[in-house]
Amino acid sequence: MIQIGMHQLKKGGRLQEMLPVVNHELELPFCAVSGEKEGPVVLISAGIHGAEYIGIQTAMELSREIKPSQVNGTIIFLLVANPQAASSYTRLFVPEDGKNLNRMFPGKKDGTLSEKIAYTIEKELQNQADFYIDLHAGDSHESVMPFVYYAGAAKEKVSEASRKMAEATGMSLRVRSSATTGSYNFAAIQGIPSILMERGGGGVFGLKELASYKQEVKNVLAHLRVLKDVSPPAKKFQTEVLTASYIDSEHQGFWYPAKKPGETFQKGELLGTVKDVWGNVLQACYGQYDGIILYETVIMGVRKGDSLIAYGCTSNPCDPNS
Ligand SMILES: [Zn+2]
Repeated sequence: MIQIGMHQLKKGGRLQEMLPVVNHELELPFCAVSGEKEGPVVLISAGIHGAEYIGIQTAMELSREIKPSQVNGTIIFLLVANPQAASSYTRLFVPEDGKNLNRMFPGKKDGTLSEKIAYTIEKELQNQADFYIDLHAGDSHESVMPFVYYAGAAKEKVSEASRKMAEATGMSLRVRSSATTGSYNFAAIQGIPSILMERGGGGVFGLKELASYKQEVKNVLAHLRVLKDVSPPAKKFQTEVLTASYIDSEHQGFWYPAKKPGETFQKGELLGTVKDVWGNVLQACYGQYDGIILYETVIMGVRKGDSLIAYGCTSNPCDPNS
């Protein structure tokens, strides 16, 4: 039997409840579906960045569509991890403290709201999960190509299981992440094979894109044998990116990307510029190796320190100095 907050989930049952954040009045909506048979517990979270709506919609629809009779084990859906940002104009931060929830793991029960949410997710949800899928998207100011990160900074066995989950999505590109502070990275360091999926952006999405996202999540659930009577997806070729680079703005100004997510480029090509109001170039961003654009900011106005662009290496070796 699974216990989430005050709520107990019995075999063959379904829960649709709110999970209180430790030492705070905020509650997080979740849904959990349990089959009759024992099996792994899979945690699926969405909305860690509140305006990444396609991830939230994917979790909400799957949580309503998947019935206990279709499940081996348990699927826990954390539907909106950062609800304040989901309905505000704050980009990816938790409005109350201005922090990026995905950089707050492990949290603190007596910290600010972001830290309390992270603590609650870790103690109440991650601690009972065997596998973890974190659904993201381009935020309201971003656009991403569809791809999946898998946790690389964990024990080799955990990274390998994470890589297999990434492969099972059927997405065309996976990125090995060396980060340690993200929700899924932290979970993997605790021994839970984990991935983070990315798709869409700009706060909008179409039905076709939503259907693709749902299918990719189901592919992973089939691979884990948590969805009954669904065959694991046929293996597709997937490019692996072992090195990724992230460029932040060095100035307040206007951002003009030169490429689109999913576009490839050669070492030394211009990826975008930040200009001042007079049109003077403040910062020019160049590819340090042959690569592909993973995601980028698509709104013009940027502040110093804002993320501009992320790209991955498509050839090896990826030493920028070679
Ligand atoms: Zn995100």
